[in-house]
Amino acid sequence: MGFSRTPTFTRSRDLPGRCDVAVLGGGLAGLSTALRLQAAGLSTIVFEAHGHAGGCAGYFRHRGFSFDVGATTLVDFAPGGVGDELLATTGAPALDAEQLPGYVAWLPDRVVTLHREQSRWHAERLRTLGDTRAHRRFWAELDRLAEVFWAASRSGIRLPVRTPADALHDLRAVGLRHLPLVRHLGRTMGDALRAHGLRDQDSLVSLLGMLVEDTVHSTVDRAPLINAALGVTIRGAGLTRHRGGMHGFWRVLVAHYRALGGDLRTGCRVQRVTGHGAASRRGSLLGHLRGGDAGFTVHTARGNVEAGVVVSALPAPITAQVAAGTPVAAGLRPYLERDEPDLGGAVVVFLGVPEHEVAGQEFTHHQLMQDYARPLGEGNNMFVSVSSPGDEVSAPPGHRAVMISTHTELAGWQGLSEAEYAARKQELGQRLIEHARRVYPRLGERAVVRQVGTPRSYERFTWRPHGAVGGVRQTVRNSNQFAVPHRTALPGFWQVGDTTWPGLGTVACVLGSRLVAEDVLRHAPAGVRS
Ligand SMILES: Cc1cc2nc3c(=O)[nH]c(=O)nc-3n(C[C@H](O)[C@H](O)[C@H](O)COP(=O)(O)OP(=O)(O)OC[C@H]3O[C@@H](n4cnc5c(N)ncnc54)[C@H](O)[C@@H]3O)c2cc1C
Repeated sequence: MGFSRTPTFTRSRDLPGRCDVAVLGGGLAGLSTALRLQAAGLSTIVFEAHGHAGGCAGYFRHRGFSFDVGATTLVDFAPGGVGDELLATTGAPALDAEQLPGYVAWLPDRVVTLHREQSRWHAERLRTLGDTRAHRRFWAELDRLAEVFWAASRSGIRLPVRTPADALHDLRAVGLRHLPLVRHLGRTMGDALRAHGLRDQDSLVSLLGMLVEDTVHSTVDRAPLINAALGVTIRGAGLTRHRGGMHGFWRVLVAHYRALGGDLRTGCRVQRVTGHGAASRRGSLLGHLRGGDAGFTVHTARGNVEAGVVVSALPAPITAQVAAGTPVAAGLRPYLERDEPDLGGAVVVFLGVPEHEVAGQEFTHHQLMQDYARPLGEGNNMFVSVSSPGDEVSAPPGHRAVMISTHTELAGWQGLSEAEYAARKQELGQRLIEHARRVYPRLGERAVVRQVGTPRSYERFTWRPHGAVGGVRQTVRNSNQFAVPHRTALPGFWQVGDTTWPGLGTVACVLGSRLVAEDVLRHAPAGVRS
């Protein structure tokens, strides 16, 4: 985006209680969008309810350890990736991070190493999961989809398509010669497996199921094929872990945002957004503000701020609450009703352990399944992340920080008495540690820190209704063309984050931030365009 940073008119930041763009929520989607807009010359304020930025990709510190509360890895931050584009566009400093060489999947009867390096992964998957013509053809189809749609994502593909300009843009992003692949939009991963005669292959289907649950939160039979192909290949796109985990990453991001003049207001929960937006003056949203008519008022317990543009990076149900009475809330209602049954939660165990308890493994990240016959989640598919050796921001010398996470049904956490809740939390936490001992036999024996996060914790610390995290379980009926769009019914009001397109995870949030920032900047007054 080529935008001049030199203002040629009275800046909104010079006016008290005003800004060009109010960004609601300081999670990855919110801060990435704010960074882009601030770097492009607009004045932005990020309103974050918690005491620091991060949200579901955030962290907490305890007894010298820094634990990642949700995401432990950043996806596609290697050179040329979606995350790298964010850093380059906003002039952010290089990350002090390592690319994971891959991770290990522990199936009930075998162990599969998901190497980042493609040729090693190709050999490993045939060796461990079957090497027939059908297997080879299936993988070739998946690889092709992944290659084309990772490239399209990196080119900023826009969905849902709302205008002819979006369609043209997407045509270029996918490439004319790959257009026939769009026919896969209506297929599921299960359809592809069936087409190759592989749907009954336990180990293959279970590994895919674990990867699909972890990335698009769905099952192989419900997950849209293209989204699942991207999810299954995130390892190949590159998983990055920052020194100090998410704490280290956020320190860099927030410092850079503030250095650009951005205003991050923590402990500042948004209560309501009112205003008519820019309905009467399309194409010059920020002109409202400079002409004295802000368009929107953001109401917080710490005072009100006027803004020309609002970007809500809150989960869609919270956006509907703060924008109650506006066309934004009315427009979201059908999506929220549709997606309600597809929300899910997470349970995470946080352990601070002496180094020797995690000794003996080459990889620091592991995914485990106990039983092919049981549904995934509740410990039967869990992710173990261990801070890197020598990372003394994550753990004191001689110690390591360990996070073990699994998906959980929200209903199982509702309506419990305090005693029932404590018992359930203790039981699931203990089960996760015991399962993880398949990888690290002495894990948790002498833990310095042992805590368990549940949907209640996410509700308390990130305000997500019922503690639903990670976006909705993706199906062909709620993703892509049917996903919650970034543009709302109120001109000047956008939404972004993992409950909007493209959905879940850090890479989706960063890609969403790019699309929204580009759209906002298209409406910026001529003075800020180079
Ligand atoms: C256990 C777990 C593991 C995960 N692992 C990975 C992984 O390894 N890799 C990966 O890429 N992704 C992972 N994810 C997903 C990823 O963390 C999320 O998809 C992403 O962080 C969501 O970012 P967001 O900005 O959309 O939302 P959020 O992070 O929820 O940000 C929204 C922010 O808004 C704030 N807020 C809420 N209400 C208000 C209000 N009224 N006013 C002001 N602020 C408010 C919240 O405090 C929060 O900071 C994981 C998620 C979980 C839960």
